[in-house]
Amino acid sequence: MSAPGNSSPVLDKACQEALAALVGSDAVLIDAADRAAYETPARYAGGTAAAVVRPATTAEVSAVVGYCVRNGLPFLPQGANTGLAGGSTPDAGGGQIVLSLDRLTAPLEIDVDDRTATVGAGVRLSALNAALEPHGLFLPIDLGADPSLGGMAATNTGGARFLRYGDMRRHVLGLEVVLADAAGTVLTLSHGLRKDNAALALRQLFVGGCGAFGVITKVTVEVHHRPRQSAAALLIPRDADAVLPLLLAFEAQAGASLSAFEGMSKAAMTRAIDHVPSLSNPFAGGVVPDYAVLVELTRTWAPREGEASLDEVLQQIAGEVLERDDSPLTDALFGPAEKMWALRHGLSEGLRASGPVVGFDLSFRRRDLARFRREAVLMLEADFPDYALCDFGHVADGGVHFNLVGPTDPERRAMLREAVLGLAVDGFSASFSGEHGLGRAFQDAYDRFIPRLVQDYSAAVAAVFGAGSAAVRLGPALKS
Ligand SMILES: Cc1cc2nc3c(=O)[nH]c(=O)nc-3n(C[C@H](O)[C@H](O)[C@H](O)COP(=O)(O)OP(=O)(O)OC[C@H]3O[C@@H](n4cnc5c(N)ncnc54)[C@H](O)[C@@H]3O)c2cc1C
Repeated sequence: MSAPGNSSPVLDKACQEALAALVGSDAVLIDAADRAAYETPARYAGGTAAAVVRPATTAEVSAVVGYCVRNGLPFLPQGANTGLAGGSTPDAGGGQIVLSLDRLTAPLEIDVDDRTATVGAGVRLSALNAALEPHGLFLPIDLGADPSLGGMAATNTGGARFLRYGDMRRHVLGLEVVLADAAGTVLTLSHGLRKDNAALALRQLFVGGCGAFGVITKVTVEVHHRPRQSAAALLIPRDADAVLPLLLAFEAQAGASLSAFEGMSKAAMTRAIDHVPSLSNPFAGGVVPDYAVLVELTRTWAPREGEASLDEVLQQIAGEVLERDDSPLTDALFGPAEKMWALRHGLSEGLRASGPVVGFDLSFRRRDLARFRREAVLMLEADFPDYALCDFGHVADGGVHFNLVGPTDPERRAMLREAVLGLAVDGFSASFSGEHGLGRAFQDAYDRFIPRLVQDYSAAVAAVFGAGSAAVRLGPALKS
């Protein structure tokens, strides 16, 4: 890490020194090499930061935010920088300060009786789960990245077990935030109560707000008992139309033990198997089907004498569905859950390794998923044959990562985006951001698809909290 030197694109020496006085000179990164990791997102092009400032306490966050606001210095919060909406990294202009929360790793407190955890915004999901494990607890939001709790609250992370446990919104019981005003006001929103109707639940504005309303510095979440039994299978549906009936059958038969139902297209699975060295092909004879669903059942109790094991339950349900007339299921593969999850979690990496990806994080009413896919495939074959559809997703929630691999030509990509989003949002009233939140990458879609009145009210709410003006705007522009 560098001591402040004057190699920042725009930040003058006096500002650098003032920030260093607030957080220590080691926590203000000015040199390009030190900034690089904070400027490079998980997806989309990176940018250039005026500086990266890394406060270690809420008081330091408040001091930095207040200083930036008073001096008209634009800044954006960053957690673990795993976001997929282009919201955590600066633009190309070199004028934004990255406010990294990665040193906010305290507290990490677990209340076993209350089944809650209170953590600094910079605590990683893996660190929280490691601390919860000895108590038999976990935060069941499961994804192929290791985000910070502050970032998870800011983006309202969904993940592969949404079906059973829901998203961050359902888990956040309290937040501490720093507002983007001249004082860097610290606001405590709720104290970890499960029930509290005594005031407006303002914290919910900050959950999924992508930093547009303030900087999250502390999070209290509800946590759950870890599963002590699990069983998984790869289901091969008859065709795309059969996925929903298959889901309905499993929901009816497995009830609350159904914890994941993840759809994977042949193209996505093949790319993962071909490009992720640690993966092996789980399918008989190595023949990857057109579509597969990873289904998982879990229980929080240890196997009981006389009770059918989850493997047996899963096999029985699959058998019953297979025997139906006009069954939506053609085959089911049983085996170690880890192997199946490795395939599911390897899909993003496989796609990236196989070529440039145009990613979409769409959300539909569940009954529309198959019809959208059919129409989209026809449209892609006719107008974009040079792009390969490699879709997968949390289909039980109506979510699909409708990812395409193909040419990088910016004009062609823009046309593709326009065509896919037009079909999804105009044609099916889908969401263009099911779970990844808002960021630069979706600003054009926000401006186009979100009704004007909603934009106006959202911008007005941000203004109430001090954020939203061009000078201090934290997150996405809520009004075009
Ligand atoms: C391989 C891979 C798989 C993924 N799978 C999923 C998935 O299944 N489901 C899903 O929902 N997401 C998924 N994601 C996206 C990503 O991991 C989540 O959006 C995550 O919650 C972002 O957290 P973060 O700490 O990395 O935030 P960042 O990327 O650092 O920031 C994301 C946004 O939140 C804001 N922000 C961050 N911290 C704060 C804070 N403390 N206060 C205010 N604003 C803040 C940033 O300004 C930015 O707008 C995946 C990402 C990858 C790379």
